Amino acid sequence: MSDLLLRGGFVDGRRQDVAVRDGRIHRIAADLDPRGHDVLDVADRLVLPAFVETHIHPDKAFIADRTEGLRAGGPTAQILVAELKKRFTVDDVCQRARRVVQLAVRHGCTVMRAHVEIDSFIELRGVEAMRRLQVEFAGVLDLRLIAFAQEGIFDDQAVTRDLLREGVKAGLETLGGCPYMDRDQRAHIDWFFDTAQAMGVPLDFHADSSDDPAMLTSDYIAEQTIARGLQGRVTLGHLSTLDVLEPGHRARVIGRLRDAGISVISLPATELHVKGRTDAHRTWRGVTRLGELRAAGVNVALSTNNIVNPFTPYGHPDLLRQALVAAMASHLGNLDQLAWLLDLVTTNAARAIGLADYGLAEGRPADLVVLDARDAAQAITEQVEKLYVIKAGRLVARNARTNELLAP
Ligand SMILES: [Zn+2]
Repeated sequence: MSDLLLRGGFVDGRRQDVAVRDGRIHRIAADLDPRGHDVLDVADRLVLPAFVETHIHPDKAFIADRTEGLRAGGPTAQILVAELKKRFTVDDVCQRARRVVQLAVRHGCTVMRAHVEIDSFIELRGVEAMRRLQVEFAGVLDLRLIAFAQEGIFDDQAVTRDLLREGVKAGLETLGGCPYMDRDQRAHIDWFFDTAQAMGVPLDFHADSSDDPAMLTSDYIAEQTIARGLQGRVTLGHLSTLDVLEPGHRARVIGRLRDAGISVISLPATELHVKGRTDAHRTWRGVTRLGELRAAGVNVALSTNNIVNPFTPYGHPDLLRQALVAAMASHLGNLDQLAWLLDLVTTNAARAIGLADYGLAEGRPADLVVLDARDAAQAITEQVEKLYVIKAGRLVARNARTNELLAP
């Protein structure tokens, strides 16, 4: 098979060709010589670097049919899933997670950083399943894994802490904390910083999920990141609490996040489903302050988080959908805002997980998605099809929709 040439697409707002050689983008220019290439006609279609999923839970996907959903006065999503995962087997996780990965690729994603739960309930069965999928999808999806402590680390002697270290030794590349699951949030954060430094891996925290300002931890995480010289090595998911701070306080916290080089990953679909359930009026949306964070110079990304489980029963690994959810939840509808929303699932997402070798530029890996739209606003508004998904120069998904308008 010859190298691909994408002909006539919109690249950086201009009609240009993209020529691939040996898995990388060789040239981007108008009217390139197609000889020796397999030509893909993408005339007037939007060509983007492929989507990057930075915060997703394939191991607990597709279990909504095994349990009840959220209801007033009922158990939390964490409690519902904790009960179920005691019975997860390696094959069960593998089958459900495989479906997530396939859907993600079909929807334009070629790099995914996934959380893998490690605790006394599931032990390392999720790790084994996800390591299998890493091998199975090599060359199609770059699957990176986080050793994640969804249940906290201080309530089971040292079982979870020992297993987390084992997970990292088994090849998981990042340590993932969840401070609000332990009574002493700072002790939890300190353990993760100490362990990540000792093991030489980056850190991710599910942080500040509450609407109680007293539960804020992102200021402390920023302080620790700077004190330990880990700028650029820490990502935070959620940050919902930012939204309930007084504006002056929030601006100071956001400034510290920027100074710490912390990337913020917003998870709008889950926030909208889980948050504000006891509000009697003016229901809280729970989505972090995307516009303010971005304006202050913080690297912000969007991600899917949960798929068909009590946290997000309608979750779906489609980052174009998350861009629309974010637009709806965060008052981001002006044309310039719709344009930068796609950065939050491409370049910003890549930066958040330290993916330096990425982007729509000559010399970079040919990881591309072609959308059936002329621009970002149309892509998000119409939720257009991802016509082609390309990983390292190879077509890994092709999608089409048939529409017949039978009236004039
Ligand atoms: Zn999550």
